[in-house]
Amino acid sequence: MRLRNVKGAKEAMVESPYVVVEPKEYKGRWNEVFQNSNPIFIEVGMGKGNFITTLAKQNPDINYIGIEKYSSVLIRGLEKREEVEKELGHTLNNLMFIRMDAEEIEEVFEKNEVSRIYLNFSDPWPKDRHAKRRLTSTTFLARYHNILKPDGVIEFKTDNVSLFHFSLESVKEAGWNLVASTEDLHHSDMNEGNVMTEYEKKFSSMGNPICKLICNRSCF
Ligand code: SAM
Repeated sequence: MRLRNVKGAKEAMVESPYVVVEPKEYKGRWNEVFQNSNPIFIEVGMGKGNFITTLAKQNPDINYIGIEKYSSVLIRGLEKREEVEKELGHTLNNLMFIRMDAEEIEEVFEKNEVSRIYLNFSDPWPKDRHAKRRLTSTTFLARYHNILKPDGVIEFKTDNVSLFHFSLESVKEAGWNLVASTEDLHHSDMNEGNVMTEYEKKFSSMGNPICKLICNRSCF
């Protein structure tokens, strides 16, 4: 993700009713934010937000939270949300955003609070010494374990084959259950209902096959 300093991005985060500025205050109470008890699905590293905004539009009975590290990127998610709301003619009450580093995720969500985690085109951190920063490392899987419901799942997509193989290894090493995987999503059964992310559109248009895995902890 190319980062530019978007003027006013930080101010827009604070002013928007759809960005939770102090997310740690809502740990264990996210259903109060949405004022219902619908399941909570999160996307970590949501980028410009096409994926999560489309899902929120398609599934009004699921609450979505998009997490992004940078204000300059998250502001694009707010714009996308506004665009979709105009198209629908009503507010997307089931979509909120948080600007934070996912390293702090256990401080923001309680055990059993999240039903699904989406990781899309996560940064590869190619150097071995940075492997723990990869969002599919065993370090991050342990964090996800502490916020997911027992039957909760993780869905991960990437065009980066090395990162994909690393992630398959992490899933195995962490003792998670690999529910399904493919190294060519767009030509597989797993593509049904697939919502493309910004990176997915870009890389698939360049001819890169898209890899996907789904995992859970049914064996724990
Ligand atoms: N998911 C989007 C897509 O598929 O189009 C964006 C992919 S982009 C390569 C990765 C995004 O994850 C960037 O916007 C980056 O800022 C964000 N990100 C990376 N590490 C993160 C972390 N530890 N916590 C939160 N966001 C992170």
